[in-house]
Amino acid sequence: MFRFSSTPLDESALRAELSDPTCGGYAAFEGWVRNHNEGVRVRRLEYEAFEPLAIKEGERIIAEAIARFGVEHAACVHRIGALEIGEQAVWVGVAAHHRDEAFRACRYIIDEVKHRVPIWKKEHYENGDSGWVNCERCAEHAQHAGHPHDDHRRPATPAPDYSRQIALKEVGPAGQEKLRRAAVLVVGCGGLGVPVMTYLAAAGVGCVGLVDSDRLEASNLHRQTLYSLADVGRSKVELAATRLLALNPEVEVRTHAVRLDAACAAEIIQPYSLVIDCTDNFATKFLLNDTCVRLGKPIIFSSVYQYEGQLQVVRPERGGACLRCVWPEATRDGLVGNCAEAGVLGPVPGTFGSLQALEALKLLLDLPGQLAEELLMLDLLSLRITRVRTRRAADCPDHAARRLAAGNTGPTLAASTAIELIFNPLEKALADGFEVLDIREPHELARIATPCSAARHLPVAQLLHGPAAMPATGKYLLVCASGKRSLAAAQELRSRGYAQVFSLRGGIAALTSSPRI
Ligand SMILES: [Zn+2]
Repeated sequence: MFRFSSTPLDESALRAELSDPTCGGYAAFEGWVRNHNEGVRVRRLEYEAFEPLAIKEGERIIAEAIARFGVEHAACVHRIGALEIGEQAVWVGVAAHHRDEAFRACRYIIDEVKHRVPIWKKEHYENGDSGWVNCERCAEHAQHAGHPHDDHRRPATPAPDYSRQIALKEVGPAGQEKLRRAAVLVVGCGGLGVPVMTYLAAAGVGCVGLVDSDRLEASNLHRQTLYSLADVGRSKVELAATRLLALNPEVEVRTHAVRLDAACAAEIIQPYSLVIDCTDNFATKFLLNDTCVRLGKPIIFSSVYQYEGQLQVVRPERGGACLRCVWPEATRDGLVGNCAEAGVLGPVPGTFGSLQALEALKLLLDLPGQLAEELLMLDLLSLRITRVRTRRAADCPDHAARRLAAGNTGPTLAASTAIELIFNPLEKALADGFEVLDIREPHELARIATPCSAARHLPVAQLLHGPAAMPATGKYLLVCASGKRSLAAAQELRSRGYAQVFSLRGGIAALTSSPRI
């Protein structure tokens, strides 16, 4: 019902597609290329569309017109590519039982296509200049100015201007060309991804890929400021692609509305020169790490927890340390709660996403001072910065490539049975000489108290990042809501030399819901 054509339109063939003996009315609209705009003579023009999005939106418009005006058939074909003066740029056809609804549906379709479908027009003027005209934005502009929809009043959208970054002597025109040739994959279009993709597109990075399978929720907006309240429920990659193209039509935006898994990761990552991890779960981070190490692609990681976060740049093509070299006790999913559970202030991921974008530009432009072989930790409450040296581990599974050769990219779980214990009631652990540490957040504790007479409360961030208030020789049982965070924290503490730290299997949920053991 809505499609693009790179060859001249044959309106009699198009009309024949709609013919129907029950229809007494047929209305069509044809848009032609005219020889002037804003008083400047136009020689020819080019149309470009972001096709996956444009076709979806076009189909939606036609379906709306059919439902709204009760017509039988409707279709629209838009040209793309180079067009000469007088050529037909767009055709809309509607067949209906009666003429009135045919006229109205036809008018509705062409107006909505002009407003909503991402199509860009590049005009070549007789004086040798050329300019991109963003039909959607200009239509809005004309409306706000109180004009009826009128092609003759459209101002041309100015071309992107990178002069403020080209002015840096380390960048210059050669640096700008490096950015134009780069292809960067942003995995996750949330609180970290929004500043990353915005700055990369604005800087003129030639191709930006976006991976996210989520739809926008109202609770995202306090930190994901690229989106609008009216967009809630819509696909994030599609929303982001539309916004980025409006910000910079020179950028090619590719969307991958999928959840990254071991089956598709390598294929998606392969065409890109740099990957940026903007996810909030450790399973995906390790999958990205493993795939990038295997493919020899640089990747910039960031994780945020409440008021703090960290940044690490992994350069496998240079033989640098990877995520598993730094976090050998792999299964860390659930160790750090995501934003939904732990809470976060919007500028915290905003800051870390900006730092990722900055490191990406430094890497692409080959600027000095890049973060390398270091983990940068930044506490935004105290504004304390910690830098930890990372080293390539001799026994890193990725670097040994054993796991990958065996096709197993998952984290190692071998120790998980020996590290998990069951005590029900929890008091039994005290009798066995354990110190019980409840690592949940204060708000979780307020809802459900620790079912134990002598438990100590130590939220996970304090436990892992706070001052070491626990002798390494002690015997500890970590407790959380479901047993996931406590298991991951116990594995982390084991790696730091706490030999007798254990996790309560199933957490507090198991105690209250299954009092059988
Ligand atoms: Zn490694």
